[in-house]
Amino acid sequence: MDTPFWLDEPTAPLETDSQGPVDVAIIGAGITGCVCALQLARGGLSARVHDARGIAEGASGRNGGFALRGGAARYDVARETYGADAAKELWRRTEDALDRLESVAGDSFRRTGSLRLAADEEERGDIRAEYEALHEDGFAAEWRDELPHLRPEFLGAIFHPPDGSLQPGRFVRGLTKLAAAEGVAFREHEHVASLDDLDAEQVVIATDGSGRGLLPELDDAVWPARGQVITTEPLSERLFDCPHYARHGFDYWQQLGDGRIVLGGFRDFSILSEMTDEETTTEPIQEALDAFLVELLGYMPEVTHRWAGIFGLTQDLLPLVGRVPSRDGTWIAAGYSGHGNVLGFMCGELVASAVLGREDSMLELFTPARLLVSG
Ligand SMILES: Cc1cc2nc3c(=O)[nH]c(=O)nc-3n(C[C@H](O)[C@H](O)[C@H](O)COP(=O)(O)OP(=O)(O)OC[C@H]3O[C@@H](n4cnc5c(N)ncnc54)[C@H](O)[C@@H]3O)c2cc1C
Repeated sequence: MDTPFWLDEPTAPLETDSQGPVDVAIIGAGITGCVCALQLARGGLSARVHDARGIAEGASGRNGGFALRGGAARYDVARETYGADAAKELWRRTEDALDRLESVAGDSFRRTGSLRLAADEEERGDIRAEYEALHEDGFAAEWRDELPHLRPEFLGAIFHPPDGSLQPGRFVRGLTKLAAAEGVAFREHEHVASLDDLDAEQVVIATDGSGRGLLPELDDAVWPARGQVITTEPLSERLFDCPHYARHGFDYWQQLGDGRIVLGGFRDFSILSEMTDEETTTEPIQEALDAFLVELLGYMPEVTHRWAGIFGLTQDLLPLVGRVPSRDGTWIAAGYSGHGNVLGFMCGELVASAVLGREDSMLELFTPARLLVSG
């Protein structure tokens, strides 16, 4: 029951040689670490990925499966906070990343679009502002007033055409096969206690919200947050064509190709106790998910999977990507603030480019130095 639905399909073990020194050791076998390793190997460096658990058993195999462009903040808010040019560049780059993700995803990705819903008048005003900002800057977005397929009632929505639905566990397992074919080694089920233990010239920290204890300064900059998700039996009726999310992303659900509903969220029902890296489901949140499922469907279907996952939140909702200040040969890509499927893919590539010595303007926006005070 507590195995995430995404990881509940058979997978062959990876046979790689994980002994000896390497150019780069990566901590974290999620989307970030795996795509980073793949790019490093393609760039000519030897790489090994370390994880305390199995491939994709962190947030990458435990999320809602939404593959969204942009950052964790609304686009209009991102323009005000990060600057108009930076926000535009970030959204454009994530759209490109979605295209690249699709090109390697096979059947683990469906380009469905996504629907961002307004649960009340205030949220309607907020998402209307986002819609207008997207339009002004030439991004595809459609406004929807009529939402007859939905109960409870919602007061409008933005349809985002570039977005999609990801089977994230299958996707990351697929990435590891590509990486292994390029010579990347994987060392699973072995906790890294210290960066000095890694027998590598350089280290990339790709632990999103679960890397506590690796670097003291990182513990202050990326805060762990828990999300909880449930999956139902396959339903015979097709109710939702694309991922839906409401209440500023606090509630999210989608219907998979086989009819199952994946529903997550309601973190705000117990917001302080959900600021934790304890990966367990809790009664108040599970009850809220069940109650919302009944509201959505009008009945309670069988729930086949219930799980929790940990993601990394940052103060400005932007990830930290690049060199860790004052620590030679140490890099990071983490802190996607609950928005790490596409962003994690992009930032895994980005940190690999940085290690390979390639300049990229995105690295300025994501610079770790803005939040990491040297320990
Ligand atoms: C419930 C939930 C729902 C979400 N929904 C969405 C969504 O729908 N769309 C979206 O875009 N994003 C979503 N996210 C966020 C997204 O899942 C993450 O941001 C993304 O998966 C991060 O990937 P990652 O590879 O950086 O980190 P992770 O996948 O978390 O991988 C980090 C790995 O590091 C390993 N690790 C940590 N410390 C050590 C150590 N000391 N030694 C060895 N290994 C270590 C962990 O075992 C873990 O496997 C959600 C997250 C959660 C938890």
